[in-house]
Amino acid sequence: MELRNQVVVIGCGIVGAAIAYELSLVDGLKITVLDRQLPAQGSTGAALGVLMGAISKKTKGRAWQLRQTSMQRYETLIPELETLTNCQIRFNRHGILMLCFAEEDLASWEPIVETRASQRWRLEIWNRAQLQLSCPQLRNENIVGAIYSPQDRQVDPVALTQALVAAAQKNGVTFKFGVTVEEIKSTSDILNRCCNSIKTTAGELDVDWLVVASGLGSTPLTAQLEQPVALKPVLGQALQLQLKQPIGNPEFQPVITGDDVHIVPLGEGQYWVGATVEFPNEVGEVVAEAGLLEKVLQEAIAFCPPLAAATILRTWSGKRPRPDGRPAPVIEKLPGYSNILLATGHYRNGVLLAPATAQAIREMIV
Ligand SMILES: Cc1cc2nc3c(=O)[nH]c(=O)nc-3n(C[C@H](O)[C@H](O)[C@H](O)COP(=O)(O)OP(=O)(O)OC[C@H]3O[C@@H](n4cnc5c(N)ncnc54)[C@H](O)[C@@H]3O)c2cc1C
Repeated sequence: MELRNQVVVIGCGIVGAAIAYELSLVDGLKITVLDRQLPAQGSTGAALGVLMGAISKKTKGRAWQLRQTSMQRYETLIPELETLTNCQIRFNRHGILMLCFAEEDLASWEPIVETRASQRWRLEIWNRAQLQLSCPQLRNENIVGAIYSPQDRQVDPVALTQALVAAAQKNGVTFKFGVTVEEIKSTSDILNRCCNSIKTTAGELDVDWLVVASGLGSTPLTAQLEQPVALKPVLGQALQLQLKQPIGNPEFQPVITGDDVHIVPLGEGQYWVGATVEFPNEVGEVVAEAGLLEKVLQEAIAFCPPLAAATILRTWSGKRPRPDGRPAPVIEKLPGYSNILLATGHYRNGVLLAPATAQAIREMIV
């Protein structure tokens, strides 16, 4: 039987890196990852790494399956990578605490808490008194309670991507950075179209399997094949704050989220706060609006007043790859092609869904 073992992955954000590592665990594959930049410079470099699995409102179907697979894999993946690379990856195991500002909102979680229990995930509904006891830094008269998800996590997306690259490299994967894929060359046989090589700024490469994990870059790449995966950029801005000391109980520092604003503890009195959600105009362009970042900060201060005393260390923005007119993410064979796999369009949950995406791609190849 003919061996089809040359796998090329385009893109080394969290998704491409997770795929590279997962495939490096399969015997006999020759894997090359290409990126026009260094690892984690696209959307991944801007992400907050909040892994909203159990605390999402998805309870069934593919959306829940992907979340559950990722949450389970994260628990083994982080120690596995730390051992392989001898590097620490910041992984917050204190859970996620979601504030509720209306009684109906709190009540709407009751059936989800029950469903989660049947799925063996724990969610707790906290009243104001419980919340005050655990997180005295949260002060806002409109808070009616909170949902606490002890098994959800937060991870440093850049450190994780770098660890995945280092571990995959150890397992024999080749990475080429600063290389842009310019063209995907395919056979013209209409009945059995497939990619046989790609043209890059560093020459041509033969391909048995092509994995497009190129985030927003996936649209121009697939447009050449007349099967464009339509993705739109949704901008997000965030900031890093420094306080003199940690807010609340230093022994309990979960990610706190209220009205879609996250406060992510980093240790030593530092916090990430974000992110804005800014949609593109009719021609698909989006430019960061300073006022919206200020609004996010003020919202965070409104429920966590000690943040008002913080110094801003840095601000940044990134563009999330959002599928146009279909649910995120896009994990499938490119229609009409037998060996082009799409792993893209993860929108707001690429860090959460990267391990499950990698497993899905592995199943398609092996
Ligand atoms: C502000 C912000 C906050 C976020 N917070 C979270 C969060 O808390 N939790 C979460 O799960 N997700 C979060 N996200 C979403 C998450 O960042 C994305 O879903 C995820 O990073 C997508 O990863 P990716 O690898 O597909 O894309 P990217 O990280 O964009 O990587 C794609 C890579 O492909 C490369 N590339 C593209 N085209 C080519 C080409 N032709 N040739 C070579 N290389 C190419 C690019 O250089 C890039 O490195 C956030 C996003 C933003 C912007």
